[in-house]
Amino acid sequence: MSKRDYYDVLGVARGADAEEIKKAYRKMAIKYHPDKNPGDKQAEENFKEAAEAYEVLSNPEKRRRYDQFGHAANAQSANGGGFGGGGMNMEDIFSQFGDIFGGGSPFEGFFGGGGRQGGGRRVQRGSNLRIKVRLTLEEIANGTEKKIKVNKQIVCKTCDGTGAKDRSSVQTCKTCGGQGAVRRVTNTILGQMQTTSTCPTCNGEGTTITSKCTVCHGDGVVRGEETISINIPAGVSEGMQLSMSGKGNAAPRGGVPGDLIILIEEIPHETLKRDGNNVIYDLHVSFIDAALGTSVEVPTIDGKAKIKIDPGTQGGKILRLKSKGVPEVNSYHRGDQLIHVNIWTPKALSREERELLEKLQDSPNFKPSPGKNEKSFFERMKEYFE
Ligand SMILES: [Zn+2]
Ligand SMILES: [Zn+2]
Repeated sequence: MSKRDYYDVLGVARGADAEEIKKAYRKMAIKYHPDKNPGDKQAEENFKEAAEAYEVLSNPEKRRRYDQFGHAANAQSANGGGFGGGGMNMEDIFSQFGDIFGGGSPFEGFFGGGGRQGGGRRVQRGSNLRIKVRLTLEEIANGTEKKIKVNKQIVCKTCDGTGAKDRSSVQTCKTCGGQGAVRRVTNTILGQMQTTSTCPTCNGEGTTITSKCTVCHGDGVVRGEETISINIPAGVSEGMQLSMSGKGNAAPRGGVPGDLIILIEEIPHETLKRDGNNVIYDLHVSFIDAALGTSVEVPTIDGKAKIKIDPGTQGGKILRLKSKGVPEVNSYHRGDQLIHVNIWTPKALSREERELLEKLQDSPNFKPSPGKNEKSFFERMKEYFE
């Protein structure tokens, strides 16, 4: 099996610098990590392939040989570092991570094990950003795309996030030699003990900047605005949180950006009330319409709908418009619209009206006579909730 070009594997240009290579590898390692892709053989292969590519391209000497001779160079090399013919084993790969993600990084838990104690280069992480998005019932029912201007920390364009005035002002930290950690040997009663701690000069970053970018003053990030397009699936509800990975605040000097957390808020609808996936509408009809029967227009999420009120309809009846409610998130199931029929009793009467009603008062049809067929309140409620 012929090997893929290491630059292609990491998706970087031939001229990519160390930071670009590291960034590209970090992305691959997260994407194909076995914890994230359990049982996925292809992901495991990709994971190993990326680790091998990084092993070579991150080492200036190995990279030089690879550029000159291709894959053959390292396979033949006596001190090739265990890659080439046999490939790297998982243990080798994980031991690389201390360098890539550093101690105290947000990935420590993710990558299992305790991580490295006190040492290793540290990658800064941008903070998460929280925004609220207010949605109408129609937007919730249909799903929507919102373009939102977000004020946040963005990567400084002048220095491309490095924080340095130019490329030559980024230097390997002299205190730790780029390791991000310093070792100290102390004499104790039990003998010599070696401890590792974060390098105080570079704060674990492994590099120092001799001349800072004048725009961001060395931070690599500036305050700015970004328009983010957010796809909101149908069926979300008040208080739900969506998260967009990497869309939060940018991290200082090429670190990992935080996430954007989107909190959903519902704008109350004028006439429709949401109840889970159902939508409730309170309909009022006159007792005359209820007695004679009529047809009325009711609002729904998708516009107006005409419904029939049968002659002799009682107050409290619940009519159901199938699948006119809110969809469930990530499902084809859609709730119903429930129409609660209220019979409107006149609150005031003219003399003429009163006389007409008094004529009907003793008519036997106007006397309440709930029969066995009449649904009880409990039965109606059961119907409503089914
Ligand atoms: Zn240092
Ligand atoms: Zn800058």
